Amino acid sequence: MARRVGYLCNTCGYTYTSIDEIFWVDDYGHVIVKPLVKSTSAESSNAAIKGFFARYYCYECQKFINKFIIYKKSSDIDDGKIIQLIEQYDDNPKIIQFDDEFQRCLECGSELPSKADYSFALDVDDEFHIGEDDYDFSKGEKFKFAGVYHGYFCSNCKKQINKFVITENKAEFSDSQIREILEKHTNDLTIFIRRDFDICPDCGEEVYYLDQNSTCPNCRRDSLTIVDHMMVD
Ligand SMILES: [Zn+2]
Ligand SMILES: [Zn+2]
Ligand SMILES: [Zn+2]
Repeated sequence: MARRVGYLCNTCGYTYTSIDEIFWVDDYGHVIVKPLVKSTSAESSNAAIKGFFARYYCYECQKFINKFIIYKKSSDIDDGKIIQLIEQYDDNPKIIQFDDEFQRCLECGSELPSKADYSFALDVDDEFHIGEDDYDFSKGEKFKFAGVYHGYFCSNCKKQINKFVITENKAEFSDSQIREILEKHTNDLTIFIRRDFDICPDCGEEVYYLDQNSTCPNCRRDSLTIVDHMMVD
């Protein structure tokens, strides 16, 4: 099922349509981008490389940026080759990201399965919460920052990796502030990734997913409103 949304700027008449899309690499090494519906799920089910596709907008460069998030990959194809195939898709600037669950051992390089996945959050009283069953991690506005934790263990090297993926950062903490807070609450090797924003590969400014209330990319004097919304399959 794909969600299709039509937007309109009431001031300049600009229209924009977004739809949930996926991509995969076919047997010939071509990248295919299509809406996420029953037929494309079936068509891509045996693909060695597969993921989500989304369009972001850079107000600085005034263009769309394609974002590819790879969530399935075959161990026969190395990550550099995957990036190369996706780069050939078209001439638009791209953000290519591997799903945050993928993690290699930092010592021996072997691909590690995630052993534990939890939500975490720092609340407005500076209490740190992680994985508690009776805690409501969906009340986003009550958090200074929040995200998802993945835990890994390399049995070759006997090393633990604690990975924190930041998806919200209402307090606008810097990287070093985030690191300091996380280090207080974990031991062992801790890495963190920022996913609360995306950067344009051309100019380095933040890019945005166009949605209701986004500034109109055309006139920049009004915001987009939803004019139609449907599920397609
Ligand atoms: Zn290892
Ligand atoms: Zn840009
Ligand atoms: Zn406009």
